[in-house]
Parts: sequence; structure tokens; C-alpha cells
Amino acid sequence: MSPSGEESSGRGDDSAESGASDDSHVDPSEAFAALSDPLRVDILRALAAFHRESAAESVGFAELRKRVDVRDSGRFRYHLNELRDHFVRKDGGGYRLTHAGIKIVAAILAGTYTDRGSIGPEPLDSDCSHCDARAVAVYEDGYCAVSCENDHTLFAWSVPPAAATDASLPEIVSHAELFARQAIERTLAGICPKCSAPVDPAVVEDETAPTPRLRTRCDTCGATMAGPVGFCLLVDPAVESFYRRHDRPLDDLYVWEPAFVADDSTVSVAATDPLRVEISVTLDAETLTVSVDEAGRVSVDESDHASADESSRGDE
Ligand SMILES: [Zn+2]
Ligand SMILES: [Zn+2]
Repeated sequence: MSPSGEESSGRGDDSAESGASDDSHVDPSEAFAALSDPLRVDILRALAAFHRESAAESVGFAELRKRVDVRDSGRFRYHLNELRDHFVRKDGGGYRLTHAGIKIVAAILAGTYTDRGSIGPEPLDSDCSHCDARAVAVYEDGYCAVSCENDHTLFAWSVPPAAATDASLPEIVSHAELFARQAIERTLAGICPKCSAPVDPAVVEDETAPTPRLRTRCDTCGATMAGPVGFCLLVDPAVESFYRRHDRPLDDLYVWEPAFVADDSTVSVAATDPLRVEISVTLDAETLTVSVDEAGRVSVDESDHASADESSRGDE
């Protein structure tokens, strides 16, 4: 019923969030076991710091040990070696992070596992599309959620704690929207927003929703992305320029606000096999008819668009 946009990696399924399991043929349980000692996490952090600060490809044993600040050379060597299968590679005279190592450090720095701050609830300058109550945002457990007092969910998206540090709640909402737009773009391009594996974006009819939904599940990391079919229009250049031409840049609206997301009556099923959805976007009595196919591909009736330029009331 709600047009809410949602995504999840199966909340609580942190392996999907971490990126640790992607593109490196690493068994996640082994990889996480390799991180069981805090000293190993310190080594990864020190390597990341080295890569940030130095143009050199790799860092020698002695310098790395100094950076991690461990006296016992044998103990240091033991833990460094435990990282070597997955996260650290020895090249020539020194050590460097592997791709999996870079990603796990990024996940650690992003605070995916450590920070659990909560901010809000706080009202936003936006009304619920179902009941006109004020939209309220809250940030908790790495998720930004927007709903109304009557429990209509308008939007929910993950925001890593690193992106929420020192941010106000409206700023966190804005980050969540940015991440959502990027995820929609990547999904529609066939790339998993979480792990970059190929995905098949799909628009499907859903018994629990009045209109078809964009729904994509990644077979590689298990992340799922779901939202109203109108989400496909959020990142479409023709729709963006239509809004801009009517002095209502989409960037100025919350992602749950455009009628093609909020108002189910703008959406109709034009064909079922294969599924094709038609969405009427109307501004100032001009209507743009947008068609979305079963893979989320958006096409705009350009003749309709062009002829509507002057004053026409648009056609359906
Ligand atoms: Zn409501
Ligand atoms: Zn994935």
C-alpha cells in the first residue's frame, strides 16, 4: 500500500553490507575469522593509512610494525601472516592491501559494525502522501526512515554511520536520498549497488501493492532493492528536464514527493505479458507519458513531449 522505497541487505545480515565477500572468492566465515584479533584490524588500518599517505605500492615489515606499534616481532608476524590469504598481499619487499582488504577497511571505517547511534525523530518540511500528516524522519541502526504519525512508511534507506557523523537529521535524509538515487541508477544499469555483481532489474506486479514495483535481488550478495515503479523515473533525464522546464527541479523534492512516486493514480498497467507500465507525469496541465518496461527501462513519448511545449493540456 505504501509507495515507500526500501532497500535491505536483510537487516542484520552484515556480511552483505560489508562487501567482504565480494569479488575475491573469499569464504566469508574464514575471512571474518581472520579478523578475530583486534591486532589484525589494527594492521589493516595501518596499511590503509599507509596507502593514503604514501605513493609507494607496499610497506616493509619493519615500517609496518612500527606503524602498528607492536614490540613483539614474532607476534606481529604471526598476525600479519593470518591476514595474508585474504586481505594482505606480499609484493616484492613489502605488504599491501588486496582489493578485499581495501573493502573491509572501508567497511570498518564506515562504522558498519561499530557505531549504533540514533537520531530523531524529527519532523520534515514534507507531508505524508497518504494522510497529509507531517513526515517525520529518524536515523537508527544505520537506517534512515521517513514516515508519518499514522505509520505510513514513505522512505527507508541505509546510511553508513560514517556518512551520519556530525550530520543533522535533514542532512542524513539528504544523504539517504543520494544513496537511493545512486542505487536506482546502478540497479537499472544491471549493477548491484552493494557488491557490484550483475543483477537483473525487474518491474513486477505485487499483490500487496496497488501498482507494480521495482524489485531487484542480487544473487551474489543477497541485497534486495524495492520501491515504487516511479523510482525508475527519478533518474531519467527526460523526466528530470520536464520538471526543470516547469521550474520544479526534482532535486528540490524529496524522493517520495513527486506524483509519479506518491500518487498511485498516475500509474497504470498498459500490458501484462511482458509487463509494461504507463505513468502520467503532469505539471501545469502539461502531461508527459512515460512508459516503463519489465526491466525498468524508461521511454518517453517524445512527440507528446515536443508538441506539449506551448500550452497544450497534453494528451493521455
Ligand atoms: Zn500518513
Ligand atoms: Zn550484490
